Amino acid sequence: MSILIKNGYCIDGFKEGYFDLLIEGNRIKKIGKIDKDVDSVIDAKDCLVMPAFCNAHTHLAMSLFRGMADDLELMEWLEKHIFPAEARYVNPETVYKCSKLSMLEAIRSGASCFFDMYFFEEEVVKAALDVGMRGVVGEGVVDFKTPSCGSPKEAIEKTKLLKGEFENSGLIRVSYAPHSTYTLSLETLKLVADSLDKEDIVHIHINESKREIELVKSQKGKKPVEVLKEVGLLGEHTYMAHCVETDNDDIELIKDAQAKVINVPQSNLKLASGIAPIQRMLDRGIDVFIGTDGSASNNNLDIIEEIRVASLVQKVKFNEKALKAKDAFRMLVNFNGLFDAGRLEEGKLADLVIIKLDGLEATPIYNPYSFVVYALNSRDVRDVIINGRVILRNGEFVGVDEEKIKFEVKELAKGLGGL
Ligand SMILES: [Zn+2]
Repeated sequence: MSILIKNGYCIDGFKEGYFDLLIEGNRIKKIGKIDKDVDSVIDAKDCLVMPAFCNAHTHLAMSLFRGMADDLELMEWLEKHIFPAEARYVNPETVYKCSKLSMLEAIRSGASCFFDMYFFEEEVVKAALDVGMRGVVGEGVVDFKTPSCGSPKEAIEKTKLLKGEFENSGLIRVSYAPHSTYTLSLETLKLVADSLDKEDIVHIHINESKREIELVKSQKGKKPVEVLKEVGLLGEHTYMAHCVETDNDDIELIKDAQAKVINVPQSNLKLASGIAPIQRMLDRGIDVFIGTDGSASNNNLDIIEEIRVASLVQKVKFNEKALKAKDAFRMLVNFNGLFDAGRLEEGKLADLVIIKLDGLEATPIYNPYSFVVYALNSRDVRDVIINGRVILRNGEFVGVDEEKIKFEVKELAKGLGGL
């Protein structure tokens, strides 16, 4: 299958200009002025063509709990509302259907990729393969029984099985997903560390709130980042979501280990956790990505809205020059480098988004990065291509029944008191 995208203005965080793009199979074959017979031509006149985005921290299936418990502090929200609801309602069926709904929501805001941590992750894989979305899945490891696993050991074993089954499927990668340093004992954290092969990815919540730091210090005598280092989990393949309460000593440890940070600003604002010092991390050369968190704490998966908030709150924390538009844009696309995507370059995987520029908010444009970060609305996302396949065309999903998926999730939510 070959697709030629013509007449668009292209940006990828490193170069800009009017180029045509030729996609052959699942990769970008050629960039430039191209005239060639192809299977399909997409006219991107008056459009912006970019690498698609990644929602780099989420719990897709939590769309089931969207708006169910709001206006609460993190620990109260988790312990009194989310953990009990999960124990009762999370099963293979809810994870499959609600993850699928969330994937559509993410794609509609220009994402081609997700980085998920939850339970029954084999159902998330199934949903991703049905939709045609790329993602990293991680079976949640905690020190108590989860809806899917009787013990942390079982969750670790399951991670190994998922890796064996899906790691080479093209669209899917598998991570270890220890939930946090406050829900896991040192022993279990070490068990995860001992299970890692050299290239294995670790996805964990770190430094989300002041209370978390106090809790971990009282449990383990150290701060969360120090605990990670002690158990051997702070490395270049470690992706730490949140990092709100991150002091300069933490930042140096993260930098030395080349660990990665995922900024999750709206969830941190909603749970009143604070604002992560992202600009300080970028100044130290740390790789930072962006995620929405699950939609029980956000309450949507709109990554375009998320990046705007990310940039704005950095300005409040530091000054008006913090998290400039181009740096923010790179946070949207850089995670996809994990899959050899995220750039408009010949040979890269064809995960692309086409934005229409006929909206009022797109008139005029002087700087496309400024437009994407400060003005773009996800209703302007026209086409999304993932792995060389058109998933969203003129705002409509291809080969996925959006109405059916919404209906199914509404039916599930009725059991929990949904309208
Ligand atoms: Zn999270």
